[in-house]
Amino acid sequence: MTTTTRGKVGLIGTGMVGSSFAYALLQRGIASELVLVDANADRATGEAMDLNHGLPFVRQMLIRSGGYDDLAGAEVVVVTAGASQKPGQTRLDLLRKNADVIRDVIPKVVQSCPDATLVLASNPVDILTQIAADLAGWPSGRVLGSGTTLDTARLRYLLGKHYSVDPRSVHAYIVAEHGDSSVPLWSLANIAGVRLADFVSSTGQGYDPVALDGLFQQTRQSAYEIISRKGSTYYAIGLALLAVVEAVLRDQHTVLTVCSPIKGRYGVEGIATSLPSIVGRRGVEEVLNVTMSPDEVLGFQQSSKLLAEKLAGVS
Ligand code: NAD
Repeated sequence: MTTTTRGKVGLIGTGMVGSSFAYALLQRGIASELVLVDANADRATGEAMDLNHGLPFVRQMLIRSGGYDDLAGAEVVVVTAGASQKPGQTRLDLLRKNADVIRDVIPKVVQSCPDATLVLASNPVDILTQIAADLAGWPSGRVLGSGTTLDTARLRYLLGKHYSVDPRSVHAYIVAEHGDSSVPLWSLANIAGVRLADFVSSTGQGYDPVALDGLFQQTRQSAYEIISRKGSTYYAIGLALLAVVEAVLRDQHTVLTVCSPIKGRYGVEGIATSLPSIVGRRGVEEVLNVTMSPDEVLGFQQSSKLLAEKLAGVS
C-alpha cells in the first residue's frame, strides 16, 4: 500500500493557500518535482525562486513555474486558484466567480495530465469539486477536494486543548459542507478509542456537551475570525492539502474528511460533500459508511440539499 517513490505535483494558484502548500511540500520531501501555474505568471515565478532558495536545507526536488503543458506526467494537481473570502463574506458568496475560474482551469489540466488525481481547495470547495468532477469526467474518486479536512483539524486541535491531549490522539470528524452547514459527528468522537462521553482527562475535564458545542461553534467561526484579524487563512489548509497529497502520492489509504461526488449515501446523490474517506493513489478509494445519529444524518442531508441548490444556481 505505502510506496516511497516520489512523484510530480502540479499546483494551480500560487496565492497564499497555494504557496503555503508548496512550502509544506518542500519541507516534507515527498515530491520529485513541483510545477507552479498561476494566471499571474510573475507571482508563480517569484514563488518558484523563493522556494528554490530553500533547497540547500531540505531534500532535493525540482521546482519551476510554467504553463499547463508543463503539468504533463503529474500524479497530483492541486487547485487553489480563485478569489478568497473577504471579511464578512461566506464561502458560498465566492461561488459564481470561482466557478468561472474552475471552468477555465480544469479542462486545461485534464488535457495536459489525463492520468492525474485532482485535489481542489478553492472555495466553495464542495460545489467546485462537483463542477470539476463533471468537467473532468474521470473515474469516480480521482477528483476530490480538501472538504472538511481543515474543519476536522480545527476541532481536533480545540478538543486536544480542552482535554490536554495531543490532537493526533483525538478522533473526531466534521462532515458535510466546508462552511456554515458543517456537521460535527459527536456520536463517533473518541480519544484513543474512549468515547468522549466516558473520557475524563488527567486534569479532571469530563463530558460537558455545552462546552463541546462551544468548541464546534468556535471551529465554525475560525475562518471568519482569522480573516478579520489577518486577512486570510493559509497555513493549516496548506498542511491539510499536504496530508491529502501525501496520501495520494504514497498510496497511504489515509482516512480524511475530503469531499467527493457522493453516490447514494444517507439518501444524498449528485453533489460533492465531505465524509470520512479512504484516500490513496486513485484519490478517494472509498467513502466510509459511518454510523451517524439521526440528528447527524438530518444535518448531513440538509447541508447536502443546500449545496445542491447552490450548484443548480450556477449550472
Ligand atoms: P489568493 O488571492 O492569495 O490567491 C489566489 C491565486 O489564484 C492568485 O495568485 C490568482 O492569480 C490565482 N488565479 C485566479 N484565477 C486564476 C485562474 N483562472 N487560473 C490560474 N490562477 C488563477 O487566495 P488564497 O488565499 O490563496 O485562496 C485561494 C482559494 O483557497 C480561495 O478560494 C479560498 O477561499 C480558498 N481557501 C480554501 C480553504 C479550504 O479549506 N478549502 C481554506 C482557505 C482558503
